[in-house]
Amino acid sequence: MMLTAIGTNLQAIREKIARAAERAGRNPAEISLVAVTKTCSLEVIRAAYSAGLRDFGENRLQEAIPKIEALRNLANLRWHMIGHLQSNKARKCADYFHMIQSVDTFELAQRLSLHGAQTNRPIRILVEVNTSGEATKFGYPTENLLDEIGRLADLPHLQIAGLMTIGPLTRDERRVRQAFIVLRELFERIQSRPGLSEEFKILSMGMTDDFELAIAEGSNMLRIGRGLFGERRMQ
Ligand SMILES: *Cc1c(COP(=O)(O)O)cnc(C)c1O
Repeated sequence: MMLTAIGTNLQAIREKIARAAERAGRNPAEISLVAVTKTCSLEVIRAAYSAGLRDFGENRLQEAIPKIEALRNLANLRWHMIGHLQSNKARKCADYFHMIQSVDTFELAQRLSLHGAQTNRPIRILVEVNTSGEATKFGYPTENLLDEIGRLADLPHLQIAGLMTIGPLTRDERRVRQAFIVLRELFERIQSRPGLSEEFKILSMGMTDDFELAIAEGSNMLRIGRGLFGERRMQ
């Protein structure tokens, strides 16, 4: 892609975020943006960094690690794992990423907590929720999420920073919005419970095709790829 397009695309996205926030009576400054760089080259990521982006999302560990290593000299850059992760890759992922947004099983969480114990630090995670009920999606089912969060909260070296979901892939806005409403309501219920740390603050939902709806429903972290970098080639 043309590297100069990234700055222009970013500006257009920021304007849309501002307008959607205004419509919802929200402050756009409270909505953070994760640039999803899966399939993007180092050159493109560097251009995004120069345009001011600091949070980057990758969905495959194998693809991400060489990029993270190659870009270590960029200051204050935060990497977010947003793809399904096998439990046996937990440690490696925790070593490379600022936050793991796609924690979808107790086993994975347990391994991360163990690694946190061994390295003497909390591992920052979001709990992924399957809000659409689609069988192809990863994430905890909504039905028993409150109980499951309780179990996760008992793991000593995890910092549960919030929830993440991927909206259903459909043009039906009502269904997309419904998925976001479900996540927001779960988020609010969990936040109001005593015992969970004050770190539980992030509601990660909204991608290129649905981020304005997500903002209307309270999202404070968007994950945007194509809107910044153009269409991806098949992986
Ligand atoms: C690819 C991906 C995104 C970004 O999707 P776009 O439609 O390119 O904005 C966001 N979240 C997750 C989990 C992804 O895998």
